[in-house]
Amino acid sequence: MTQPSAGALSTLIEIAENPTGYVTRWKTATGGKAIGAFPMNFPAEIAHAAGVLSVVVQESREPITSGRNLLTEFYCGYTRNLADQAARGRLDVYDGFFLADHCIQLLGAVDVVREEGNRPVYFGQLMASMGDPWTRTAVDGKMLSFREELAEFTGRTIGDADLARSIRLFNENRRLLRSVFDARRAGDATFTSAELQALVKSSMVMDKEEHTALVRRALAEARAARRDGRIRLHLSGHFCHAPRPELLRAIEDCGAIVVDDDLFHGTRYISTDVREDVEPLAALSQWYLDRNVSVPCPTRVQHDVDWDAYLLDSVRASGADGVIVLMAKFCEPHMLYYPELRKALNAAGVPNLLIETEHEGLPLESVRTRVEALLERIRHSQLANA
Ligand code: SF4
Repeated sequence: MTQPSAGALSTLIEIAENPTGYVTRWKTATGGKAIGAFPMNFPAEIAHAAGVLSVVVQESREPITSGRNLLTEFYCGYTRNLADQAARGRLDVYDGFFLADHCIQLLGAVDVVREEGNRPVYFGQLMASMGDPWTRTAVDGKMLSFREELAEFTGRTIGDADLARSIRLFNENRRLLRSVFDARRAGDATFTSAELQALVKSSMVMDKEEHTALVRRALAEARAARRDGRIRLHLSGHFCHAPRPELLRAIEDCGAIVVDDDLFHGTRYISTDVREDVEPLAALSQWYLDRNVSVPCPTRVQHDVDWDAYLLDSVRASGADGVIVLMAKFCEPHMLYYPELRKALNAAGVPNLLIETEHEGLPLESVRTRVEALLERIRHSQLANA
């Protein structure tokens, strides 16, 4: 279905940069329906089992114009861009939309998608409170409602055997991608962080079997490289949409190498498999609950799980010398949690830097100066402790 160019990795990068092009080609080739799923927790396995292409709606690179007055300026760049894409008809390639999350800004943007388009939009928010006695039952109910809605949307029954097959394919894809991220933690520098982002972002867009095959080819074609002596960094944060590849490249060009992350377009998306040994819908409920333990998320409430403790454990495990927190400007859940993160990193003596991102305007020179200052700080402390 894809038209491979110079190599499989180039094809994956092209698809990550132009999701709409892929969705259009997929629909033409298969005659199937595509849905836009909003980040970060929609159980896409159910859509796959219904024969639908489920695509995590990505931020586009176009400047915001028509959608400017649909949401206020203090919504995050992703949600303002979503509203703009809806207003300009850029989301018309999707036959419907599904939401499983709670962020108030995202809800506002999805409301605009509903108002501006003529496609069905299903609001099926999964519980944000993860540890209450009623949580599991409520999550089970939501998973059932996703199955019912998708069955109605496609006019097709979604049986347990279909769902079990989709779960296997998604797990296989996650395992493959995780093996690349695990190799990076262990010292493999074959792929840059921008290339790893493209592997994950294209997985959010493509048919899973096709993506798995293409990633296998990209791995076979890659030239292995070991990590050198550059400063090792962990990238943290940035939910819902991908940090710009040029930002990732600027960080690495300063003399750093990214060895781990908890980004949504990275470790967070592929963190958790769905159990294959229990009833499929129940397994998806468990997956949703497990994800917040694998990589805690500030859009969820769970008293026995801490993002700061997770981050410190990850930094110790990967041997990262420092942390760069990437925060989408006005991302409320992240802004509320960040002081705790910074306090924990400072208390543990982990050098860290906050970089805020916006939809428009990336001050690369200022980013470089600040990253270089962080790296200098790390070198000094390494010399002092030598
Ligand atoms: S979680 Fe943050 S990035 Fe995602 S929609 Fe909400 S405010 Fe935007």
